[in-house]
Amino acid sequence: MTQQALVFDIKRGSSEDGPGIRTTVFFKGCPLACVWCQNPEGISREQEIDLNGNEVGFWITLKELLYRVRQDKPFYDSSGGGITLSGGEPTLQLAFIHHFLKALKADGIHTAIETCGRFKYERFKEEALPYLDLIYYDLKLFDDFQSRRYTESSNKTVLENFSRLITEAKVPVIPRIPLIPGITDTEQNLSSIADFLRTHGIDDCSLMPYNPLWQDKLKQLGKTAAYHHNHFLSPEEEKSSIKHFQKAQ
Ligand code: SF4
Repeated sequence: MTQQALVFDIKRGSSEDGPGIRTTVFFKGCPLACVWCQNPEGISREQEIDLNGNEVGFWITLKELLYRVRQDKPFYDSSGGGITLSGGEPTLQLAFIHHFLKALKADGIHTAIETCGRFKYERFKEEALPYLDLIYYDLKLFDDFQSRRYTESSNKTVLENFSRLITEAKVPVIPRIPLIPGITDTEQNLSSIADFLRTHGIDDCSLMPYNPLWQDKLKQLGKTAAYHHNHFLSPEEEKSSIKHFQKAQ
């Protein structure tokens, strides 16, 4: 059977999704539905049609995807870069990413993943972890009620998987906390996450400032936003979150 994945973008020459020059593959489909999602076109597990009649998402074979990402290998090699799997949530297409990551490792290409952390741990450990060099792991909301309210998903598995991964992974696991005004950037949420990290002996994390540009993408899909915040974080807001967080470090 031909292995195929549903993706919605392949971004070459990226410098934002890990070290060096990278190609980022955005897998379509996510088990969460965050009200602030920066890539709302990545949430549905199916192809969609936007308001201009364009198809959102396309199927790609393993062979074709490998061909496309291998083209920039000289840039990865010279810059310390590689491939990043993003989305959506790449682990939803675990059987595919297993073969994809394995082939990349065989080529000596650095691999990273950006995950929301909601996956079946044993399968992830077996099929993805051995072929990853770097893991960016989102921690959004520590309170389960808030998590269900704003991401349509419990955070139980996410927190459990994180604890296991931190203990068992032999590669860096970098927690990432999105700073969403009034939702994740509250004193209570950030201090709870900071405490959680401290109990795991972690002193390195990334805070991801809010970016309102997702709203145009959502409109383009013909969908209505359930969260309205139209500006970037002010320097004061950013500072206060960062400062708060440094207390844990
Ligand atoms: S986990 Fe990420 S991709 Fe999934 S809905 Fe939330 S922000 Fe969007």
